[in-house]
Amino acid sequence: MLNKELKNGSISHSYFFHGENMKHLFELALNFAANVNCKQGGCLDCKTCKNTLKAKYPNLYVLEPLGNVITVEEITELNYLMSISSINNEFKIAIIKEADLMSDITSNKMLKILEDPPDEKCIFILLAEDINNIIQTIKSRCQVYNWIFKSKSLEHFDEKFNDIENELKELLIKLISDRKNITAALNFSGHINSYIPKIGEEIIKKQKKETERIKKSGLDEDEIDRIIKKIEANNKREISKLTGLIIKHVFDIIAYCLEDIIAVMAGSKRETLHYTDNYNIISKSFYGESMDKYLELLDIIRGNKIYANQGINYEIALDRVILGLVQL
Ligand SMILES: [Zn+2]
Repeated sequence: MLNKELKNGSISHSYFFHGENMKHLFELALNFAANVNCKQGGCLDCKTCKNTLKAKYPNLYVLEPLGNVITVEEITELNYLMSISSINNEFKIAIIKEADLMSDITSNKMLKILEDPPDEKCIFILLAEDINNIIQTIKSRCQVYNWIFKSKSLEHFDEKFNDIENELKELLIKLISDRKNITAALNFSGHINSYIPKIGEEIIKKQKKETERIKKSGLDEDEIDRIIKKIEANNKREISKLTGLIIKHVFDIIAYCLEDIIAVMAGSKRETLHYTDNYNIISKSFYGESMDKYLELLDIIRGNKIYANQGINYEIALDRVILGLVQL
């Protein structure tokens, strides 16, 4: 589709690529950038292609956020660099990695740039694994492409996520089979909090190894410093991304449990439940109650899930829902 656009000369100023692997998204963006400027339509062999693929080309600018957010300064610099005219009258291409790290302020700044590009020959390619955090106005400004990858960047955490699900399911069964146990309900969010440092630990361990290796690499001190800072920033980002994912995962599991409760109240059969094992307990524990309260709790979970990756305090919502399951 992209190549067809290029052939027809109907190139857009702004693209948005999303899919669950930043590394692959970046490779695709570089390939696309090479195709745009290559005189042979993307031979992948000429100097333009080769250097673009290496992300070292004067008409290519890559914004890789250094911290946990994309700052106003980073966007301002991007705008300045894109306003300088390109070499050989080619397109100037900006690739913005981790575009979901834009705050409301930087998003609006970015939007202004997309609406009124600093130069006619500008192309912006925004990348994000999760497009849900991108403001609508940016999405509608861009040509959006969703890529499905075989390998997801956080796949090696799948096993951990399964463990969390199993543990949580057990906790929830205990909770709904003994609904007078307020202590268990009160300890619930504390338990969820313990998942996050456990996953963080692993990333920090990996960071230590990488840092050691770089220190022994024989590079000059400034370069070592720069690389280490980059590793630290990347890891910090990975931890916050994972934290968001864990919270979402936890909310999903609790939502399944609530949906099951509501389904049983509405007379659904065991086979239709998410967690069929809970059927008997739910029938016994929630017999004769009205489902309104549980629909409300489900709404709270759904409402809060949206904010899970913005580091918003999720404990209050969690406590409210879990205490809602208890019979005071
Ligand atoms: Zn080429």
